[in-house]
Amino acid sequence: MSDLLTGKTAVVTGGASGIGRGIALKLANHGADIVVADIQDTPNTADTTPTLEAIEDETDARGLFVECDVTDYDDIVGAVDTAEEFGGIDVMVNNAGVVHPVEFFETTDEDFATLIDINLKGAYYGCQAAGERMVERGSGSIINIASTAAEQGFVEPGSILYSAAKGGMKSMTFGLAELLGPDVRVNAIQPGFTDETGLAENHPEEAARARAAETSLDRLGTPADIGNVAVFLASDLSSYVTAEGILVDGGWVNTGGP
Ligand code: NAD
Repeated sequence: MSDLLTGKTAVVTGGASGIGRGIALKLANHGADIVVADIQDTPNTADTTPTLEAIEDETDARGLFVECDVTDYDDIVGAVDTAEEFGGIDVMVNNAGVVHPVEFFETTDEDFATLIDINLKGAYYGCQAAGERMVERGSGSIINIASTAAEQGFVEPGSILYSAAKGGMKSMTFGLAELLGPDVRVNAIQPGFTDETGLAENHPEEAARARAAETSLDRLGTPADIGNVAVFLASDLSSYVTAEGILVDGGWVNTGGP
């Protein structure tokens, strides 16, 4: 608990569950008021405590939930506008995403509509809506949750489309840092395989253990690990950091991955 982010307001898409929930809680723990923007408000993990309840129980920050489908531009604008309740948006976390494995040679328009629309278009819309407001306000920090999949040929079966979306998010982050600077900073976080998420709960235990052993830290990441880096990027501690993609993967990519 600190006052590092007191007086700031953050919008977290996909903040009901997994990594987004972990980010929302960490930001709130450091004083930020939170708008959770999600299509549903219940975590899709064993712990089903809604993010707002956890914020209320564990922090002194305020929270609001807004129903938001990130593929709908008006919904995203609605979420950004909701931040006005707390004084206006300072931090935008574009986190909502799905895994949706699909064989490369069998990829359909529907697969594009699902994966690219949620993972890439949703983040693009988030940057548009938040970026416009932040430029008007003269400050802001945008954090895009990409993936290790943006960094290398991804080994998971059916992940080419996912990698394409995450690679797009990363390059978009760099371009936007130039376009929206100097007042707005834009960065990406690239998590490795993260526990306590919808993905982890649907993954075979054995595969998760094998992935944990491949990291230099001998464990999977947690939403709290990702949240700590989001706190850094949201705060003035990262005042000279923009156009950066930060791997939070226990060393997985840079020590050779699988
Ligand atoms: P999760 O399934 O635990 O949570 C995703 C959240 O996004 C859910 O609350 C869901 O309701 C919400 N969501 C889904 N579609 C939405 C939409 N159209 N509009 C608004 N909200 C929507 O997933 P997670 O594992 O926490 O993933 C979060 C982000 O982190 C994703 O972008 C994912 O690609 C990325 N990521 C995850 C991992 C991992 O190992 N879990 C690794 C790297 C990157």
